[in-house]
Amino acid sequence: MNCSRVMLIAALFYAPLGWGSDISEKNAEKVREVLDAALAAHGGAERLAALRSFGVEFEDINIAVGQSRKAEPPLDRAPSLGSAAIGLDDSVFVQRAAGVGGGFEFDNGTVINGEASYQFNFRNGNKALIAQPDFATTSGPFVRVSPTLLVLQLRDRAQNAYYLGSDKVDGEKHDVIGLSMSVGPGISLFFSRATGLLTHSERVLPGFGKVEYRFDDYQTVSGIPVNARFTLLVNGEENILRTNQRTLINPDLAPMLDVGTDLADAPPVVAQPVRVLRLAEGVYHVGGNGTYALFVDQGDHLLAVGGTAGVPERAAMLRAEIGDKPIREAAMTHHHSDHILAVAAYEQEGATIHAAASHEAVIRGAAADPAGLKFAAVESRARIGEGPITVEMVDIGPTAHAEHLLVAWLPEQGILFEADHFAMPAAGPVQAAAAPTQDFAKALDRLGIEPTRIVSAHSPRPGSMADLAEALRLEAERVQKLSAAR
Ligand SMILES: [Zn+2]
Repeated sequence: MNCSRVMLIAALFYAPLGWGSDISEKNAEKVREVLDAALAAHGGAERLAALRSFGVEFEDINIAVGQSRKAEPPLDRAPSLGSAAIGLDDSVFVQRAAGVGGGFEFDNGTVINGEASYQFNFRNGNKALIAQPDFATTSGPFVRVSPTLLVLQLRDRAQNAYYLGSDKVDGEKHDVIGLSMSVGPGISLFFSRATGLLTHSERVLPGFGKVEYRFDDYQTVSGIPVNARFTLLVNGEENILRTNQRTLINPDLAPMLDVGTDLADAPPVVAQPVRVLRLAEGVYHVGGNGTYALFVDQGDHLLAVGGTAGVPERAAMLRAEIGDKPIREAAMTHHHSDHILAVAAYEQEGATIHAAASHEAVIRGAAADPAGLKFAAVESRARIGEGPITVEMVDIGPTAHAEHLLVAWLPEQGILFEADHFAMPAAGPVQAAAAPTQDFAKALDRLGIEPTRIVSAHSPRPGSMADLAEALRLEAERVQKLSAAR
């Protein structure tokens, strides 16, 4: 131990108690003061302490930021209906949502209830056990859009809160508290000085940007003020416009938990680790946990298809097996935000990016150097790159999901790579074909493409034309049952 460190330790022991600053105590006091006003404004500490359960039924307009059919404005808007409820004593959570998104009809539910936790697919009539239910993560999104629940979080976690200062929202003075919930990035809560009500909150997600929550049109239900309207903004753009149709104070959750007992059992939801799947000589499907890319070994370089998350990690895993080859050609399936995440990685490799002409602006926008990006437009159907393996990019659009959608077709191997139109379930039987899957099948028929294997950007499991035919048959059967029931 050197001399200066001994002196520092001595100083720590012999310094007068405290540092002469009371900033932490003042902060805790200020949090307490804002919290007390918030509890009073949101129904009173006593009434909130008596809250055992809380639920909302709502109608949303979902604005497809980065997920519209067309690359250019206006953005698609789609309505959906939903409900959610939380049990505060027993960590129980239940939610359901139905609508159309990206051309896919959905009617899904989740129950988090200890060992009886399930994911429901009401459209397809099945349920899957959630092996490791996580109450805080699953209920978090509902808590963050419910001022009543946020105030309770602040009450219960006041020791994890900081007073950030005052700010003006819509010309009105607000006190801002920074709160860390048990999972996720910290959230800033804006309480109106005039009313004590929570009108606004926001979070900053690294690599994604700012998410804002607005709570408007407060009305009182069973003595508790609740917001009739909610707006979600992502980086300043409207993303969800919600109307809360009914707020349930202390609802009985038992009937809500008792859903779907007549549904078929689907295999449990399990993690899918990243792996390299060799499909044929020089052809690899690489990915895990919902995102996959196709890599083709062209001798002295690689050709890659698909732009979902994790491409650098997946390329490194493949190179560990086949040697260090640069990616010189890369093809993007479409313009959606989750399918252009790899643009910067391909750009860094110096690759030429092949995509539909109308997706050029969005793809350049995802590059570090938009103007310098090597871009090659694919018109309806074209072979891309050079090497021993023929890779054709084929536009199967328009479909219910996207105006233009490129699939990769390897005619000699009979392998087709697709995104967002026909993903096999990781395990268990194939599901009834939604509108995009039906359009995909029609396009293959029209183009005379008959793959032996169909691999996907979102599934670990290759499918076949027989699987596709089965999906269409199940959909026809589902529609027939629906019309018979009417
Ligand atoms: Zn998509």
